[in-house]
Amino acid sequence: KGLTRFENEPFADFTQETVRRAFVDALAVVRTQLGKEYPLVIGGQEVRTADTLQSVNPANPNEVIGTICQASTKEIDLAIEAAKKAAPAWKALSPEERAGYLLKAAEIARTEIFTLCAWQTLEVGKQYDQAQADVAEAIDFMEYYAREMIRFGKPQRMGRAPGEMSQLMYQPKGIAAVIAPWNFPLAISCGMSSAAIVAGNPVLYKPAGPSSVVGFTLSEIFRKAGLPAGVFNYVPGRGSVMGDYLVEHPDVALIAFTGSMEVGHRIINKASVVHPGQKQIKKVIAELGGKNAIIIDDDADLDEAIREVLHSAFAFQGQKCSACSRVIVVEPIYAKFIERLVEGAKSLAIGPAEDPTYFMGPVVDDKAQQNVLKYIGIATSEGKLLYSSPVPDSGYYAPLTIVEGITPEHRIAQEEVFGPVLAVMKVKNFDQAIEWANSTRYSLTGAVFSRSPKHLEKAREQFNVGNLYLNRGSTGALVERHPFGGFNMSGIGSKAGGPDYLLQFMDPRLVCENT
Ligand code: GLU
Repeated sequence: KGLTRFENEPFADFTQETVRRAFVDALAVVRTQLGKEYPLVIGGQEVRTADTLQSVNPANPNEVIGTICQASTKEIDLAIEAAKKAAPAWKALSPEERAGYLLKAAEIARTEIFTLCAWQTLEVGKQYDQAQADVAEAIDFMEYYAREMIRFGKPQRMGRAPGEMSQLMYQPKGIAAVIAPWNFPLAISCGMSSAAIVAGNPVLYKPAGPSSVVGFTLSEIFRKAGLPAGVFNYVPGRGSVMGDYLVEHPDVALIAFTGSMEVGHRIINKASVVHPGQKQIKKVIAELGGKNAIIIDDDADLDEAIREVLHSAFAFQGQKCSACSRVIVVEPIYAKFIERLVEGAKSLAIGPAEDPTYFMGPVVDDKAQQNVLKYIGIATSEGKLLYSSPVPDSGYYAPLTIVEGITPEHRIAQEEVFGPVLAVMKVKNFDQAIEWANSTRYSLTGAVFSRSPKHLEKAREQFNVGNLYLNRGSTGALVERHPFGGFNMSGIGSKAGGPDYLLQFMDPRLVCENT
């Protein structure tokens, strides 16, 4: 019924004064709303708890973004009950009707885009353009999955045997637990939740602690879109208190998780145990880490390559699972590349994300800062420091760090840092570059800068990652155009923003009638 073809939400043009002004105005408005207390939202009702968590601005930890009520196992039980109550009516709606709620929610996010961005800038330290890309991606997920659900919603005739009507169709799996990361605080939360919802599964949504207020903005978007009570339940809480309980709950059919490899392994392990009263085998979708490499060939266009490596490694402080953390450079171009890389890095100023003169901001919290500093210690003991940037005195900053002399045996070549630390690896030739690129447990993203058709072809065949980019950086996958996700230790499940994603949230049924 007149649904247009999916199109990506355009990026804002920050060269326009009016666009920059809109962002600054939104920041000012959001600043007047800081420090509130946020309840859980269960079955459409606000639920308050004695235990609360403070979320702060990482550039200025004295600035409290919000105080967030924390679910215990009791509130998880309440939310499960609410989801169970909502499930039959939600499942009974047509795919078009459920898609309609997502399209309405997308429209709401579109009209509030700058406010939604401003919350991210203050709560997790996302720069204007990065925050706008995050909200645009959230909108894309809703627009795309709405259309995908309509596609899967039509029963598909199988075979053409005379006297037989055989049809394949999909139904929701049941209650979904969505456990989200803070690094794409709206986009990934919204992507996992909206997929579950549109496929007919009520959601218990646990945002990450450091982005719980942004998580609440998602809850608000769904409330304003008129989603029936209990279909989306906002249940922030401490992983140590309610994480296992949520995953192990016999009524949870499906767990969609994006985060670290360690937590992913724990979830997969816990979810494999069948508990009394449990009716289904739990499905786990887990998007985990990466140790992503960009290969620089001897004929690479360095103007492009330097810009894209710096952006892939250090935009949003390297806190993306798609971020470049290894750059593998062939010997003939090594000296020239390194010189320009360091020159380029020196030009990147570091300070609060709300000031667009700064390319890089703070890491998300004190724990992240300690972790990055620990890895900088490891990296500089394993290799030779090429550059360490100055950082502001206060706030959770970690220096932009580039280290050379790294080989695959080093920890900094194997372990995900999730911060602004780039390991430079020198190789003899392109064959060795591919071999080293593939020498980790992860297989998420990768990129190659080369003008040699033979080398690009070799990379296409042998560079073993979920998202391979030729002559562009390793981050910034767009919904539909670049379905996103990896394999090996980078996760299990099919690609977000791609044509197989929704199938994971449903069970297929075949009905065959002799006619
Ligand atoms: N989809 C994002 C990108 O392509 C990365 C997602 C993540 O970091 O979890 O940059």
